[in-house]
Amino acid sequence: MKTLNQHFINGQWQKPTTDNVLELLNPSTEQAFAKLHLADKTMALDAIKAAKEAQKQWAQTPATVRARHIQNIVTELKKRRDAFTNAMVEELGCPKSFAEPVQVDDPIDAFEQHINWTLALEQKQQQQVDKRLQVRREAIGVCVLITPWNYPLHQLVAKVAPALAAGCSVVVKPSELTPQTALLLAQAIDDAKLPAGVFNLVIGLGQDIGDTLTQHQDVDCISFTGSTQTGVHIQTLAAKTVKRVCLELGGKSPYIIADTDNLQQAVALGVEDVMVNSGQTCVALTRMLVHESQYEAACELAKTQAESLQLGAPEDPDSFIGPVVSKGQYDKVLDYIKLGVAEGANLLTGGKVAGKGYYIAPTIFSEVDNSMKIAQQEIFGPVLCIIAYKDIEQAIHIANDSPYGLSARVWHDDRTQATQIASQIRAGQVYINDAFWHNYAPFGGYKQSGNGRELGPEGINEFLETKSIIF
Ligand code: NAD
Repeated sequence: MKTLNQHFINGQWQKPTTDNVLELLNPSTEQAFAKLHLADKTMALDAIKAAKEAQKQWAQTPATVRARHIQNIVTELKKRRDAFTNAMVEELGCPKSFAEPVQVDDPIDAFEQHINWTLALEQKQQQQVDKRLQVRREAIGVCVLITPWNYPLHQLVAKVAPALAAGCSVVVKPSELTPQTALLLAQAIDDAKLPAGVFNLVIGLGQDIGDTLTQHQDVDCISFTGSTQTGVHIQTLAAKTVKRVCLELGGKSPYIIADTDNLQQAVALGVEDVMVNSGQTCVALTRMLVHESQYEAACELAKTQAESLQLGAPEDPDSFIGPVVSKGQYDKVLDYIKLGVAEGANLLTGGKVAGKGYYIAPTIFSEVDNSMKIAQQEIFGPVLCIIAYKDIEQAIHIANDSPYGLSARVWHDDRTQATQIASQIRAGQVYINDAFWHNYAPFGGYKQSGNGRELGPEGINEFLETKSIIF
């Protein structure tokens, strides 16, 4: 059994003085693998103090020097590729075949892209508009960065890298379910010799230290990724000190498949998109909208595809889908599957898997009406709803008939028409046909999916304030 009792504050590894311990279970075996000694309020306050003290000098550090620090962090991250993969296999239950390229290499690449974006800031941060006006883009200040467990490194990188690029010091509170990933990032930053206090890590429960971090008057900005419920709570508390709050929240993303000659490819892609990472993906295309003329064929193809995906231990290189992260998540997803049946949807395939581990087979509902709870609420598990539509106008209406607006996909044999449909969907990202993730693309939500943007040079804007100096 491992002991995880280190938190990183002001350039030092520190142990909590209280004895608040969380036992972590491997989701594949349900065996305890680590005791996590949680950070307490005093540590949260110490971390904010350290960040505040480090802030002034870091903000004044030239962008070229900040870029060099980012380069050093990337070098250290690359040395830890295998350690990151193993951590995510163990604590998240993420299959190795997915963890390595998507959960580890992609975020390291995203961090690396910040080197050039930081260098580009050199000019942007101080613009002489005319003789009388200079406009500066300055670091907003101390930032609290709160992340969930489902893409544990990606979510940390999408906040830490742009904040450091902008010249902000940070206090990071990752999910308590994936502490090893966060500790590896902190070790990389420690070895990269970032000035003390610029990056601080406290791993604690939201209920213990969350409110301390998000209400503090010395915190200038909060960037949060997680559930809409927690996001609303944080924004409400932060309003008292008028902080900037960037929220990356839940989703119930639509996938419009227009009448197509490539139905099999379109459906297979949609099924895999939902089932990957055991459905624990905020942008998962959990509502597949299919033209009524191709609906039956699509349901049959989806069932075949779902049943062909290999479910198994995350260590097994052939596993496509592993367990969900925790008992809580397991129970919640199974409850939604029962609810779907009770609401009158047709359970085509999937459900509970007997035996040890939090395994749920790829699950597909057909005959789903978009007003059902399983089509409106985020399930965050391997569950796909297939909905029929009569014409493209109705498909767009159904796509937008959701409290969320994080992502979407349009499959259309004609690229121009696909783009036209994309322009009518209220979501932060729309993928066309088999397009895949782009680290340069600003990422974030419309409506209750959030209000900020991460990644790309635009992601750095979240951590900048604008100042006009008028002569
Ligand atoms: P969550 O809201 O329960 O927790 C997220 C983080 O917030 C964790 O670190 C948690 O400890 C912390 N937290 C909890 N209460 C807090 C409080 N009072 N103050 C401060 N912090 C607090 O979400 P989760 O279950 O960890 O993650 C799943 C959710 O995240 C899903 O809804 C998913 O859609 C969403 N998500 C969104 C994105 C995105 O970019 N839009 C990406 C991934 C996940």
